[in-house]
Amino acid sequence: MLTQSLPNPLVVANWKMHGSLELCQEYSIKLNASSPGVDVWVAPPSIYFHRLSDSISPAIQVGVQNLYWEQSGAFTGELAPSMLAELGASFAIIGHSERRTMFGETDQHVARKCSACIDSGVIPIVCVGESISQRETGNARRVVSEQVSSILRACDSKSPVQIVFAYEPIWAIGTGAVAEPSDAEDMHCHVRSMILESTEWDAKQIRILYGGSVKVENAAALVAQQNIDGFLVGGASLEVDSFKRICQIAAGV
Ligand code: PEP
Repeated sequence: MLTQSLPNPLVVANWKMHGSLELCQEYSIKLNASSPGVDVWVAPPSIYFHRLSDSISPAIQVGVQNLYWEQSGAFTGELAPSMLAELGASFAIIGHSERRTMFGETDQHVARKCSACIDSGVIPIVCVGESISQRETGNARRVVSEQVSSILRACDSKSPVQIVFAYEPIWAIGTGAVAEPSDAEDMHCHVRSMILESTEWDAKQIRILYGGSVKVENAAALVAQQNIDGFLVGGASLEVDSFKRICQIAAGV
């Protein structure tokens, strides 16, 4: 029987609304060698997409931090998945907690975006995660389950599917308060079992990233967990040397 090998760990840079032409240039110079044993993806603000994708190593995928679910129409300021695919964006981060809390995105919005991404050949990185009060009141698993379920309900009929999940506890994003590796592993394991139980997808092939104050100092302990398949990195991705080192750690170097 043929057994499919597991995918490489994946490390994704989320620049958020940071960066500059200078950072694009720095990434292109310093990340120009492909890194064996790890996949590296970068999401600059969309306005820098071309500058970065034209100059960075073709081994590195460039994507976006958000998109809309419609393919065209009177939606001022929005970007369609088909347009992004046409320009070579291979992935989109969707449902980031900053979009959920500051821009009113609901589980339904995120599910529609996820579905539209898959239909257009753009890989969605679906962010899920609980707030500190939800964790403290024992509701973390329920909140994450609801976020994941709405994605699985909207997309489980799509096949073959390429999708990435990112568990990002909100209280760990940009705060320096990283999750305990064993707590993160517990939630990753839960998300993988949900995929296994409610879809026909090969759950082992779906990468579940951890995000929330990932740094050079804590990356090794996190990626050593069996169900942590890489990272979504915010703040530390603005420092190319740190981001590069995190990629090497994920590769086991
Ligand atoms: C993020 O933006 O998804 C993130 C995890 O940020 P940080 O690494 O800064 O916590």
